Amino acid sequence: MRGREVTETDQANTVDMDEIVSLCKRRGFIFQSSEIYGGLAGAWDYGPLGVEMKNNIKRAWWKAIVQERDDMVGMDAAILMHPRVWVASGHVETFADPMVDCRNCQARLRADEVEGETCPNCGAVGQFTDARMFNLLFKTFAGAVEDEASVVYLRPETAQGMFVNFENVLTSSRKKLPFGMAQIGKSFRNEVNPRHFIFRTREFEQMEVEFFVRPEEAPKWHEYWMQERLNWYLKLGVRPEFLRLKAHAKEDLAHYAAACSDVEYLFPMGWLELEGIANRQDFDLQQHSKASGVNLSYFDEEKGEHVVPFIIEPSAGVDRPLLAFIVDAYRQEEVRGEKRVLLKLHPSLAPVKVAVLPLSRNERLVPTAREVWSLLRPHFMTAYDDAQSIGRRYRRQDEIGTPLCVTVDFDTLEDEAVTIRERDSMEQARVPVAGLVEALRERLPAP
Ligand code: ATP
Repeated sequence: MRGREVTETDQANTVDMDEIVSLCKRRGFIFQSSEIYGGLAGAWDYGPLGVEMKNNIKRAWWKAIVQERDDMVGMDAAILMHPRVWVASGHVETFADPMVDCRNCQARLRADEVEGETCPNCGAVGQFTDARMFNLLFKTFAGAVEDEASVVYLRPETAQGMFVNFENVLTSSRKKLPFGMAQIGKSFRNEVNPRHFIFRTREFEQMEVEFFVRPEEAPKWHEYWMQERLNWYLKLGVRPEFLRLKAHAKEDLAHYAAACSDVEYLFPMGWLELEGIANRQDFDLQQHSKASGVNLSYFDEEKGEHVVPFIIEPSAGVDRPLLAFIVDAYRQEEVRGEKRVLLKLHPSLAPVKVAVLPLSRNERLVPTAREVWSLLRPHFMTAYDDAQSIGRRYRRQDEIGTPLCVTVDFDTLEDEAVTIRERDSMEQARVPVAGLVEALRERLPAP
């Protein structure tokens, strides 16, 4: 483990996960998939606020990883790939978890997640079957015939789409080592035991970097990316005492990795992985070169030699970080004797940036308030709310993390100014409508 030492005595995360799940549903962040049919295990739907927040996370990542760097390019590969990709990558053979069944309640559990002989589902002792390996690849068929020859897999990671395009990207972008590719997209794993809300699901999104370096420089770049990725979460406001880098023990490393560290967040369920940063060595390019017969190497003009680059891979989810951002931002405060629930999200992650609130539904106020709303819509993700008291509407915006509210009152009709109310400090400032867009922009820092 690098960075700050974390001990048993560290602060626990006392946020109640049930409250988070309930807020996410009530306010339209996340719903159970196919809920009206009783739900589907391991699948969740993002509602109007959830999709905004997810897009904001992906945008912040893309900006930091692709837009602001001179050594990265993006790409977007198909989810379906040639089945031989997954043979060469080792997934068909080894992408499996050990699984046990409880003979008493028929629960199917990951063997490495049960402790001792007691079933966590029904409490029966000594009723587990022997562990069997269970492959996590989702299989389906391409085309009209359902036979072995038409089997394709839903990708369990986005990474392979970048490895197999190494040559294409290298020649078309004319990048030199070290350089990287970045991709965001859906991945699928038939997890034995999906759980902890959106933490472990069967369908999820990933944001992955494959960074190609000269072999002797791999340890240096591994260090670099670990720090870089930890800093990304810190810049987006996650409290440092709830974040850590944790190195995998040698015996826990995947067969292709020389080293791997995870960025972990202290969830109410304990320290859990948000992303892994691995030194994959030259495993992937070597495997695909061998299996496809296409030489995936790099010609170093300065040294006059071919090298098979090593790969440093920071591989993050989207859903797990989203959950961490929400859990980390969740606060309950008391304001003037009343409870206030607050999502103290970084403004760049907040689903709604500005809410326009007329003081009341008075017919003189509403047209002006709607005008202010249309003035802001091209510039920010906004909301408009005129139901119930202004205090309750502030609370509603606090609960979804809206950093700024704009209140239109009777003075607005005279002085053409509005009040900006800031979420965290609850401070208010009077601003002319003419300069409102700039005034709001100044208060919304970029990631
Ligand atoms: P775990 O050990 O928790 O199963 P992993 O080490 O297999 O995770 P990786 O293969 O390193 O995960 O995937 C990279 C990232 O993709 C993870 O850090 C996580 O954010 C995300 N991810 C992987 N599996 C899932 C899943 N089942 N549900 C949601 N996100 C996932």
